[in-house]
Amino acid sequence: MNSSRSLSRYSPLVILGLLAALVLVCALWVMERLGPGAAAQRGATASTASFHWKMVTTWPKNFPGLGLGPENFSRIVEAMSNGRLTVRVYGAGEVVPAFGVFDAVSRRVAEMGHGAAYYWTGKVPSSVFFTSVPFGFTAQEINAWIYYGGGLELWREAYAPFGLIPFPGGNSGVQMGGWFNRVINSVEDLRGLKMRMPGIGGEILNRAGGTAVVLPGGELYTSLQTGVIDATEWVGPYNDLALGLHEVGRYYYYPGWQEPGAMLEFTINRDAWNELPSDLQAIVAHATRAVNQDMLDEFTARNNTALQTLINDHGVELRKFPDDVLRKLQLSATEVYAELAADDPMSAKVYPSFKAFLDQVAQYHRISEQAYINSRNLYQP
Ligand code: CA
Repeated sequence: MNSSRSLSRYSPLVILGLLAALVLVCALWVMERLGPGAAAQRGATASTASFHWKMVTTWPKNFPGLGLGPENFSRIVEAMSNGRLTVRVYGAGEVVPAFGVFDAVSRRVAEMGHGAAYYWTGKVPSSVFFTSVPFGFTAQEINAWIYYGGGLELWREAYAPFGLIPFPGGNSGVQMGGWFNRVINSVEDLRGLKMRMPGIGGEILNRAGGTAVVLPGGELYTSLQTGVIDATEWVGPYNDLALGLHEVGRYYYYPGWQEPGAMLEFTINRDAWNELPSDLQAIVAHATRAVNQDMLDEFTARNNTALQTLINDHGVELRKFPDDVLRKLQLSATEVYAELAADDPMSAKVYPSFKAFLDQVAQYHRISEQAYINSRNLYQP
């Protein structure tokens, strides 16, 4: 019995159906090779599947500096994965409000988030240690603690109950002390000062007589302009100039004692992470590390140019905090750390790790970074 005889026993409709199935199989084969996403739609193996994620952020869309971190991440990941992983970035308020990012990623409203860990102290008190604490690590030092000093493991442990995996997501370097509309000559001048200040810095300010307020970046300009707050810290010259804070604040204080190296974060929903094949996980992990360093490089390159623009073109008055103000704030900081460690079990684990690493790295930096910068400044042509 040959095949034409056997086919002739079936109705034309069945033959048409078989031909259609053959065409479909061929089409899927072609789509898998040409079109990202095609494989995932029909449940192909992990190595060829593609993923399309959303990332919600605490920044306005395309916000210079901090807000470019997530955009860069998205571009890097898409290029490295050849489109198998795309991440669409949403600014604050587009999907969830700025301070809704943590919950949104925890509940998988979005697969990823970008923000700063210290925005979540109400849920995770120890999170302050994973952004920046007053008189704590510089950018170089916190990277060392996170990647080589046990910091990342502690951070993951702190976020595990929320189904979140954190990754470093950029760093501003040493920030500025902030924008003030009154002169700060002594600790007394902090009394009654309503100032935007997140994290432990806010608690320290409160002990020094001020009133700390937490506001997202997009609300600072109007809040300072309308007198809702008397002062605000934000980032540094490059970001502050972009936000226009010189238009509403008169005195620009340094140094940024409250944030000597603010590290930002990516958060990833754990289930979404587990669905990725290992090569895409590796791409994501390395992309966060690239963005973490790249942001610091950009700030380092642009801060002084922006500072000169603020001073020379906009008449901003640059002022240094008096030493007795800094001393008082540092004393309060050590009290706040100790209380935090006493009140919160996770902070009781994180603080000793932070403190031991800070002590040893600061000891070395006194005879390396600090001694070198001092020596460079000895000769002034
Ligand atoms: Ca800040």
